[in-house]
Amino acid sequence: MLIDTHAHLASNQFSDDLAEVITRATEAGVTRIISIGTDLEDSQRNIRIAEQFAPVYATVGIHPTSIHEITETKWLEQIRVWFEHGKVVAIGEIGLDYFHPPRDGSSLSAWREQQMKFFRAQLDLAAELQVPVVIHQRDKNGESECRCDLLKIISGYEGRVQAVFHCFTGSLEQAQPFLDQGHLISFTGIATFSSAKDLHETARRIPAKQFMLETDSPYLAPTPFRGKRCEPAYTRHTAAHIAELRGVSLEELASTTTHTAESFFQLS
Ligand SMILES: [Zn+2]
Repeated sequence: MLIDTHAHLASNQFSDDLAEVITRATEAGVTRIISIGTDLEDSQRNIRIAEQFAPVYATVGIHPTSIHEITETKWLEQIRVWFEHGKVVAIGEIGLDYFHPPRDGSSLSAWREQQMKFFRAQLDLAAELQVPVVIHQRDKNGESECRCDLLKIISGYEGRVQAVFHCFTGSLEQAQPFLDQGHLISFTGIATFSSAKDLHETARRIPAKQFMLETDSPYLAPTPFRGKRCEPAYTRHTAAHIAELRGVSLEELASTTTHTAESFFQLS
């Protein structure tokens, strides 16, 4: 029994065959899927999907590259109200993105400032509601400014908010300051790429209870589906690969990561 802790089921890439996608996941032993929101509309769509399909839970939040689309002054209030819904389990995905250029035509510093404002507001709400957060972080290749700024901000919430740093691709040393504050990381299909040697090392060495599995569907399909549309059933391939790296059985890895996800997202 596995949990795909990060999929974008509201993506239009799934609009034609979502029911089949979820059935294939269940058949592959991926019995629960956390479907991640990236803006207000997308969050609402995810809630609908969670209502429609028993294995699906939803998160709600504003992704750092979507902040310029938010015109509603009551956007944060909307996120708060959604938590009255039993299948909304976290705020996400939120965070900082220094990879993409400003999407609103503003200066780099103003754009980053704005991202931080949205990030902090959503972290404050998570602390107040005592719900976990799903974090997106992306540096420009070879840089670490985004990770450093993120660590500064999240350190202000130590003990009040628990986060997962999704699609983690760095070294264990880079993850350590976050892990030390009680946060988790999660691995996508990138962990199955033969070129991702450093990431294999992270997946091999990280303590068993400090990570979860995800697909980031429809993106990042694992080997042997690389380049194709990714779907939650493929969590199994990533799980099998990481189990092999760690020298444990798939059953053991599934059981530990599922338990971690159940406790992180407070799933019953
Ligand atoms: Zn995502």
